[in-house]
Amino acid sequence: MLETRNVSVLYGRHRALENVSASVAKGEIVVMLGANGAGKSTFLRAIAGQTRKMDGATVLMDGTDITHRPPHEIVETGIALVPEDRGIFADLTVRENLILGAHPARARAFEADNLERVLTLFPKLAERPKQIVRTMSGGERQMVAIGRAMMSAPAILLLDEPSLGLAPMLCTELFRALARIKDAGVGIFLVEQNAKQSLAIADRGYLLDNGHIVGAGNAAALTKDEKVKAAYLGE
Ligand code: ATP
Repeated sequence: MLETRNVSVLYGRHRALENVSASVAKGEIVVMLGANGAGKSTFLRAIAGQTRKMDGATVLMDGTDITHRPPHEIVETGIALVPEDRGIFADLTVRENLILGAHPARARAFEADNLERVLTLFPKLAERPKQIVRTMSGGERQMVAIGRAMMSAPAILLLDEPSLGLAPMLCTELFRALARIKDAGVGIFLVEQNAKQSLAIADRGYLLDNGHIVGAGNAAALTKDEKVKAAYLGE
């Protein structure tokens, strides 16, 4: 279980996050919905150790305090972040990108098993191990990015707007893949603007507005919530 308590982030004088407390358990999908600039990416970066958190913040992984650990140590605790720019190497092949994901010590010994699991999850990647990632479509690249993160054998996967820029059919394929990752026991925390499809696969959700959590609940209840309908579902 990954848990944050009172995470605040300051950029200069701009408070991008204010006392954000949230959690995700293994085998659970949790979505954080928020408009552009709400602070979603900042929250994921703060968990991954890539942004300085203000005093008073706590991040716990399976009960261990990882608040002040550097990013490479946080990866070793079983947390993998797929950033909004996907963080893949466009000039390398699919296979090379995946193998790079097995770098953390926790995954090195299981590289072959993890690779097989990732290729089962994304059959398209299995068909094209030698394709240069630059020549792939947006949806395929997103699968490489998620596959690469899965190569570190994460317990918790953090995804920054994975559906961004994908055609509707590819979105559907992507969200199906996320549901399969959850079924394998991984916890997924995703931040999204695509409320409809993400709530459809999520167990729970949080609403982030201007750095504050303004709502939370199970996904079915959020889908029916008038505020969510108006702000995120375009109704
Ligand atoms: P989007 O959906 O557009 O990616 P977001 O919800 O992920 O938005 P963040 O990227 O976390 O939002 O940004 C939150 C706020 O913090 C924004 O106002 C943004 O301009 C600001 N911000 C983000 N990163 C920095 C930075 N490195 N320095 C200064 N301000 C920043």
